[in-house]
Amino acid sequence: MTAPLLQVKNLVKQFPIKGGLLQRVVDRVHAIDGVSFDLAAGETLGVVGESGCGKSTTGRCILRLLEPTSGEVLFNGQNVTTASKTELRALARDMQIIFQDPYASLNPRMTVGAIIGEALTIHKLTPTRDAYEARIVQLLETVGLSADHMRRYPHEFSGGQRQRIGIARALAVSPKLVICDEAVSALDVSIQAQVINLLEDLQQQFDLTYIFIAHDLSVVEHISDRVAVMYLGRIVEIAPAHALYSNPRHPYTEALLSAVPIPDPKVKRRRIRLQGDVPSPIRPPPGCHFHTRCPIAQKGLCDIEVPVLKTVGEGHQVACHLRS
Ligand code: SF4
Repeated sequence: MTAPLLQVKNLVKQFPIKGGLLQRVVDRVHAIDGVSFDLAAGETLGVVGESGCGKSTTGRCILRLLEPTSGEVLFNGQNVTTASKTELRALARDMQIIFQDPYASLNPRMTVGAIIGEALTIHKLTPTRDAYEARIVQLLETVGLSADHMRRYPHEFSGGQRQRIGIARALAVSPKLVICDEAVSALDVSIQAQVINLLEDLQQQFDLTYIFIAHDLSVVEHISDRVAVMYLGRIVEIAPAHALYSNPRHPYTEALLSAVPIPDPKVKRRRIRLQGDVPSPIRPPPGCHFHTRCPIAQKGLCDIEVPVLKTVGEGHQVACHLRS
């Protein structure tokens, strides 16, 4: 068996809250709380959960755009969490991110060519001006844009086209792993499908590995090999996509799935409406974080004991006291 491309081990991220005259740490936001998973080369892991569940923080900690509080990330066996600045710069060639907001993530004062070419210059990947321009044209065409777009500015493009520019920028350094952080969430449904299809084609073409972060299970269904569901900083269920969609085991996954529309009008899903909002990550509920909203929570158990991920099927793990 080959070693995974990425190993995330017990990753924790807390953001300190400072207050008072002396700006002391008075509290902490528990953004991620012991996240672990492996990712094989060429695989796509969908990561899903409501806003504030820690999915984007997990992506950023993997790349060290945020410093994890504790835990370990290994990429191709190399420890990312302890990497020096020089090592991180080299790792940035292998690990890239596509951000959610194609409007905010592109510098409006730079031409599209300069945006895509920035990493080529930083990593000294194109020895001559001609090679630099040829590479930018190649990248534009790879994502369905054309050479004459190179000298234009981001505001001249639609949302879908801007996200293609973001994808071209990520591909410039020929990465192995791309984290798509809500990469299609800001787009219309029809454009979402086009961008997802493009990402799938690129994966085939360039042997890419994806972490595909979204807040909606319907968005990741098509592209994911496996799906991890997060709630208040923890993975509550992780499974091959077909198993998770056909036989969800965690009550939270069931609730998320019940909101996904089914294309066949004759098939009706019973909608599970969760009570209340996601609790504050400053003081997450004890025991199972989900117990304050769980329709089957058991008093004296779920509000005291933290459920750990246990195997319930092939590659299928769930963190729930009452599901096996
Ligand atoms: Fe619900 Fe308890 Fe399972 Fe948590 S552990 S999901 S509260 S039944």
